[in-house]
Amino acid sequence: MEIDFLLIGQGLAGTALAYRLKQAGKKIRIIDQPGANNSSRIAAGLFNPVTGRKMVKTWKADALFPVINPFYQEMESVTGSRFLTEIAIYRPFLTIEEQNEWMGHSADPGFTAYMKKIYSESQSGFLKDPYGGVMLHNSGWLNINKLLDAMTSYFKEELILGKFDENLLSCEDDYWSYRELKAKAIVYCNGLGAMNSRFFNFLPFAPVKGEILEVKQEFTPDYIVNRGVFRVHLGNGIHRVGSTYTKHDLDVGATDSAKTEILEKLTDLVRLPVEKIISHKTGIRPATRDRKPFLGKHPTEESVYIFNGFGAKGVSLIPYFSELMVEHLLNGNAIDSEVGIARYFNYI
Ligand SMILES: Cc1cc2nc3c(=O)[nH]c(=O)nc-3n(C[C@H](O)[C@H](O)[C@H](O)COP(=O)(O)OP(=O)(O)OC[C@H]3O[C@@H](n4cnc5c(N)ncnc54)[C@H](O)[C@@H]3O)c2cc1C
Repeated sequence: MEIDFLLIGQGLAGTALAYRLKQAGKKIRIIDQPGANNSSRIAAGLFNPVTGRKMVKTWKADALFPVINPFYQEMESVTGSRFLTEIAIYRPFLTIEEQNEWMGHSADPGFTAYMKKIYSESQSGFLKDPYGGVMLHNSGWLNINKLLDAMTSYFKEELILGKFDENLLSCEDDYWSYRELKAKAIVYCNGLGAMNSRFFNFLPFAPVKGEILEVKQEFTPDYIVNRGVFRVHLGNGIHRVGSTYTKHDLDVGATDSAKTEILEKLTDLVRLPVEKIISHKTGIRPATRDRKPFLGKHPTEESVYIFNGFGAKGVSLIPYFSELMVEHLLNGNAIDSEVGIARYFNYI
């Protein structure tokens, strides 16, 4: 069977790219081996314009954030499913200095698109936020599991379930042959699976394990609370709380130390006890050494591409970068040097 693109992996990256290519009228196939611990299946799905301990505007926020809602809403409308929740994120201040600094941001046009309100007093007797905090908007969370399930049905013609075996791939005259498929091009969207590819094992991935809990706890505000940990209300008093960042332990098993860390950070944020731990999951983020994604074409192999390395922020990065990647695949548009894999060609 002759196709335009063979995509490896149907996590959030492969799904988004496949969707755009299919919309552009291209004939595609996606090979995916589903797994409960795949990063996209574990992720909390937050998109948050102000991130990190230092609470800075996230990298490229002004380019990324306008594309997020329209992109996922379009997928909602083609699948008839709902997976996007637009909701404010409340970030308590840790010190009076931080409060002052944010008061200073209130007139800064670079921040006004993301700042709903700054509070100098606590927002709830249940919260430990003596210095108040900043309420962000243009934020929310994506139920990635629901999106992937809905898109799996959407791709019923195109999706091939099972493990992609690179040994079976061979280059013929002007196509790549894989079993019965003849593909004009191949795109690796297979997260950390790309570390074992003969084409892309030169790229400096830097995997980061994350653990995440679902807990029962009263106090269900109409915003996400995020400082040290995030706390997202899923309904019926159940909250998703997390997550940890570990580079030294890449085993997919859940650890007591991570559970303790998350619960201690939650205690620093919320005064109420946790009634019950509902679940404890782990996944490994496909992060990169310079924390920038990997996009582009292999330097010597014809028509072999990668769309990967979205680390801890796939939900906000993928809508924008999938658009750029499609422009590159279909029209040969140049890839931004910050994310293009050419920055690592001297590693080969
Ligand atoms: C605990 C945790 C919390 C997170 N929280 C957030 C968050 O709040 N917000 C956010 O934006 N991001 C978050 N992330 C990160 C997010 O999960 C990633 O950025 C994103 O999901 C990566 O998607 P991906 O498609 O590139 O990779 P993956 O989800 O890893 O998908 C790769 C796919 O390729 C398949 N594959 C690999 N090899 C093969 C093969 N040989 N054959 C067939 N299929 C193959 C895999 O099975 C998988 O389905 C979190 C991650 C973790 C672990």
